[in-house]
Amino acid sequence: MATKYVYFFGNGDADGDESMRAELGGKGANLAQMAKAPLSLPVPPGFTITTDVCQEYYKLGRKYPADLEAQVDKFLAKLEKAMGKKLGDENDPLLVSVRSGAAISMPGMMDTILNLGLNDKAVEGLAKKTGNEKFAYDAYRRFIQMYGDVAMGVDHDKFEAILESVKNKAGVKSDQELSVENLKEVVAKYKEMYKKEKGEAFPQDAKKQMWGAIGAVFGSWMNERAIKYRQLNNIKEGTLKGTAVTVMAMVFGNKGDTSGTGVCFSRDPSTGENVFMGEYLMNAQGEDVVAGIRTPQKLSELEKTNKKIYDELCKIRARLEKHYKDMQDMEFTVEEGKLYMLQCRNGKRTGAAAVKIAVDMVAEKLITKDMAINRVEPQHVDQLLHPTFNKAELAKGIKIASGLNASPGAACGQIVFTAAAAEEWAKAGKKVLLVRKETSPDDIAGMVAAEGILTATGGRTSHAAVVARGMGTPCVCGVEAIKILDAKTISVDGKKYKEGDFLSIDGSTGAVYAGQIATEDAKLSKELDTFLGWCDEVRNNSVRTPAVGAKIKGFGVRANGDQPVDAENAFKFGAEGIGLCRTEHMFFDPAKLPYFQAMIACDTKEMREKALKDILPLQKKDFVGIFKAMKGQPVIIRFLDPPLHEFTPKDKASINEVVKILKAQGVKMDAATLEARFNTLHESNPMMGHRGCRLAITYPEISMMQTEAVVLAAIECQKAGIKCQPNIMIPIVGEPRELATIRSECESVIARVQKEKGVKVNVTIGTMIEIPRAAILSDEVVKSADFYSFGTNDLTQMTFGYSRDDAGKFLDAYYTRNILDDDPFKTLDKNGVGELIKMAVNKARSVKADFHCGICGEHGGDPESIKFCYEAGLNYVSCSPFRVPIARLAAAQAVLASKAATKPAAKKAPAKKAAAKPAAKKAPAKKTTKK
Ligand code: PEP
Ligand code: MG
Repeated sequence: MATKYVYFFGNGDADGDESMRAELGGKGANLAQMAKAPLSLPVPPGFTITTDVCQEYYKLGRKYPADLEAQVDKFLAKLEKAMGKKLGDENDPLLVSVRSGAAISMPGMMDTILNLGLNDKAVEGLAKKTGNEKFAYDAYRRFIQMYGDVAMGVDHDKFEAILESVKNKAGVKSDQELSVENLKEVVAKYKEMYKKEKGEAFPQDAKKQMWGAIGAVFGSWMNERAIKYRQLNNIKEGTLKGTAVTVMAMVFGNKGDTSGTGVCFSRDPSTGENVFMGEYLMNAQGEDVVAGIRTPQKLSELEKTNKKIYDELCKIRARLEKHYKDMQDMEFTVEEGKLYMLQCRNGKRTGAAAVKIAVDMVAEKLITKDMAINRVEPQHVDQLLHPTFNKAELAKGIKIASGLNASPGAACGQIVFTAAAAEEWAKAGKKVLLVRKETSPDDIAGMVAAEGILTATGGRTSHAAVVARGMGTPCVCGVEAIKILDAKTISVDGKKYKEGDFLSIDGSTGAVYAGQIATEDAKLSKELDTFLGWCDEVRNNSVRTPAVGAKIKGFGVRANGDQPVDAENAFKFGAEGIGLCRTEHMFFDPAKLPYFQAMIACDTKEMREKALKDILPLQKKDFVGIFKAMKGQPVIIRFLDPPLHEFTPKDKASINEVVKILKAQGVKMDAATLEARFNTLHESNPMMGHRGCRLAITYPEISMMQTEAVVLAAIECQKAGIKCQPNIMIPIVGEPRELATIRSECESVIARVQKEKGVKVNVTIGTMIEIPRAAILSDEVVKSADFYSFGTNDLTQMTFGYSRDDAGKFLDAYYTRNILDDDPFKTLDKNGVGELIKMAVNKARSVKADFHCGICGEHGGDPESIKFCYEAGLNYVSCSPFRVPIARLAAAQAVLASKAATKPAAKKAPAKKAAAKPAAKKAPAKKTTKK
């Protein structure tokens, strides 16, 4: 039997259903589902050509599979029968829309063509049949423009220029004010221009038009913006088969004042509130609403002006939510008083809305807690942590305009007016706000680069709003006060702002301010607290039975923090300990730095011991602060790691400061000698050089001082009744004897200080696994370790042999040439680094069955890597404090995914929720330099 490429829907039935997203795309699958029982919604009939055809089309060098044409003919005939009209009929033409739709929603990235089937004769027939000549010519001018642009590649601006000139000549502002004569003139001029551009007349054969449009939609799968969108959203090559194409009977919202079109959401996609909201335009087609050409009316107005349609929509809203158990984004058209549903999909939403909707739907018993956890994406939580304006600064701010609060968060930057400028300025390290009349999909790269987006026209469902929300970028749109004067200047209320001037926007309130307003980090909301509490339950109750070693209960989330203030933040965000305290970072404080520099300037043990005496109380104080902040939770203190040259003073004044400190320590050294000493610290390959435990091997007094500081801090806390769990961690171990040697020195200090103070403290000693050799010899290393933490920044660097500081210079070529899928410094390389981790864990647990292992490299905050860590049997992940909430969610999702994967296969697995793909921008490779 021939492969079925075409699926029909309409007349209360459909060949496919919602489970066929992969084949029919989200749009096609949902149209089929809406059309058939039990939903049985008013959907115009049509047919969907599957994504398999798209895949074949590219395999065959942009050709269709042999039997596609016959199948399309068959279903076109069925559609014509259902509508009682024929495509291209001169008296009563069937008009269709040709729409794109992949399994994962890619809003606005691929092409759609409306009003297809019109030609010079059919337009007359349509005019006569409907008794509405204006409508017929309005549809025809729209079709020529859309088809000419999308299918035939005629510049969109050339059509716009003609439309503008006719409007100017007629003295009208909006498109709907054009008379029949004006519209006929537009059509004539469009065709004339088309012929000049293409060297042939505008196609009149409706069937040819349809195949042209189908080709254009399949072609748009590989257009630049669609490819970019997939890259930015981490949709990897080969995950999807391509786009489906839906050919659907047109219903008309532009047939006069009893017709209209709109977009609505079953809950507020910005806040998540359970209110029905949306926008519509009377006497318009869908493109008018989303393009932001006219400012649409709120859905609440429809209740006043057309209660019948409004009530019908409300019922559909409730039915769709109940069916899909998620917030729905719907498109509808009213044709002469009759309502049609054109689309429904799970709505894109802000982070705040995602959490609120998930929490509310659990309370409404629509979904379970586990479903709620899977519903919220880690990026949603990230958005909730977006900054707001500093209140005091905001009070002084000068508000110059306001618009729609389209995507939350405060942003401040230098204004630029093109996407290209946004990209260029951002690359140069500047923070920019992208200001546009309205955005289009071609602006995507500039939108990603911008801190915030500001548009002069367009509603909450405009391109700018939808895309910014998806990316979590603050956006204010529809700011009518903005006038675009020229390519580099705008004015607001008569005041000019040039490219490079600063503006600030609040995407949560819609306010626009002149100048720079400082932003502040976000705080957790109550709803997020509840939600993350559910995540914690799932994590904490998880039990794993690994192949090697004892059962593992729970999956922890800790934070990397070096100062008491980091620890306070970490605790607030729900961290269950400090997984990495980089002790050298304590010396970034300008008040402490010269003491550290004085210590590294010393070239004898005696000198160093004197210098270390000054450092000990400084470190002890910080340790006490961190222990207090963590309220008895474990704190892993990583001993000195970086190559010392990273801390040498760079100017004369700083060198003189060190001279003074050394003098106070009884060491005479002039500035020139000191500078020469610092110069000797230079290393040609410092990442492989004198760092980590090598410092402790060569200068044991340093690690002994650090041990003393830890023990003294613990004793001080204990005496003050503050619980603490200090853990010492030795970095860059590659040989078991390194750790054994350092451990015994630390233990001797612990014993001495305990004896001196007459107090016992429980300090454990572990190591980082960040050198492949340590992973290989893990069954030996483990003998001197109480715990491991995988330092995957260095482990990645040393496994790949890529410098963690500048691998970015060549990694781009690896992505474009399909050699690597991801930045291995961002998402853990499972095949190489991951295998080393598994080997190290298993070897360690073959010696100590319940050996505790975690991760503290940057990967500890990356959702995909967190999933790997759970599967590899790590006890916890540790990441920066602001990523802790994301890690709590990602960890819970990892637990649920693993449960789902091990469920007995007998039960039919639920349809894979393709839309849950991460929608975040691809984060640039984080610079992990040891600074
Ligand atoms: C690591 O190497 O992964 C790590 C956490 O240590 P650092 O980044 O300080 O080298
Ligand atoms: Mg390291």
